[in-house]
Amino acid sequence: MKVVDGLLAAYGPPELPPPADPLGLILWEQVGYLADDERRGSAFEQLRERVGLTPEAILAASMDTLEEIARAGGSVAVSERAERMRVSAQAVVDEWGGDLSRALRQPPAEATRALKRFPMIGEPGADKILMLTRTHAVLALDSNGLRVLLRLGYGEEGKSYGPTYRLMREALAPECREDFDWLARTYGLLRLHGQRTCRRSAPRCGECILAEDCPSAGS
Ligand code: SF4
Repeated sequence: MKVVDGLLAAYGPPELPPPADPLGLILWEQVGYLADDERRGSAFEQLRERVGLTPEAILAASMDTLEEIARAGGSVAVSERAERMRVSAQAVVDEWGGDLSRALRQPPAEATRALKRFPMIGEPGADKILMLTRTHAVLALDSNGLRVLLRLGYGEEGKSYGPTYRLMREALAPECREDFDWLARTYGLLRLHGQRTCRRSAPRCGECILAEDCPSAGS
């Protein structure tokens, strides 16, 4: 994708969530809410250091500790997020014998279904886990990446976020490489571009490296 080459030249390799197993990536989503990457990352490292990322470690931690860590990741829904971490760890023990990678070894549709049963994990989140764990070669997109691609003329708007996301995935399929490094980099670059330049309101088209080929530039 020409777009990805342009973004890589502009931003360099993007930062991605720290390497973790599937439960770790679920905890990454749950430990922060409405938090920037720095705050989420700091809360996640607290979780890793003070509690641990295994289901047994999460279940052994007190709710007070989980709440304290969840608070470090944002002040909204602290108790709920702490509880979601605990519920997720319990589900990994009860349903997957303590090893969530067993769920990911299923065919993609079943693996996605299993991941979507965890709190705060929708289809984009499930795709991200499949991609970052190098389980299935899918291009995950967050809301920033989806917006950037729509403005660039890829895919089309559906009735709501879910259908729009699926239509985009179908539209991109012919251009996606089955290369986990490329997929993760593309996810990160599109996200970064949406955060910094192609922002939801007031996109900075005047300083956008993609403006020349963008049908939405200046509109
Ligand atoms: S030109 Fe504007 S609308 Fe197009 S990608 Fe760049 S910032 Fe987004």
